[in-house]
Amino acid sequence: MRHHEGMATTITLVRGDITEQHADAVVNAANSSLLGGGGVDGAIHRRGGPEILAACRELRAGHYGKGLPVGQAVATRAGRLAARWVIHTVGPVWSAEEDRSAQLASCYRESLRVADELGASSVAFPAVSTGIYGWPMDDGARIALAAVRAADTAVTDVRFVLYDETAYAVFAGLADG
Ligand code: ADP
Repeated sequence: MRHHEGMATTITLVRGDITEQHADAVVNAANSSLLGGGGVDGAIHRRGGPEILAACRELRAGHYGKGLPVGQAVATRAGRLAARWVIHTVGPVWSAEEDRSAQLASCYRESLRVADELGASSVAFPAVSTGIYGWPMDDGARIALAAVRAADTAVTDVRFVLYDETAYAVFAGLADG
């Protein structure tokens, strides 16, 4: 069954650190290498411990020899995190010349598709691409909210975990309007 009509997805905004979330799955704003980076990625590996990196290395040795393409998502175990799974997704780097918003929307849609495969009912997302990858928060938030609202998913609890007051305010402004 790929259709989940009638299943409501509740979207919640949380200010905080995604590594502290008690959700079935937390989403990592990873890079293509899957071998770690800064921002959310660094925090997840630091707090989750070496088990996550070991799982990422297995992915690189297997199906994802060239890395995880932009806009796609893949799950690993979550090590010492409270979550059961980490869903790694690679956001597009912001570009003023090229509209990459479809790739950013794909990150959310594909992460929820992976969550459905896992049987996860709660998923915590960061604001993908809005840190090191330079996406303007307002646009990144608009794409994130629209993508989750449009998704055909059995996930009932989607949480956006916003790291600072500004990000939270931007999401809250859009979610209300
Ligand atoms: P990207 O490389 O996709 O831009 P980043 O991890 O650099 O990913 O940033 C994505 C967003 O997550 C930014 O808005 C950043 O402020 C925020 N962020 C950084 N650390 C955390 C954290 N521990 N929990 C939640 N959000 C975080």
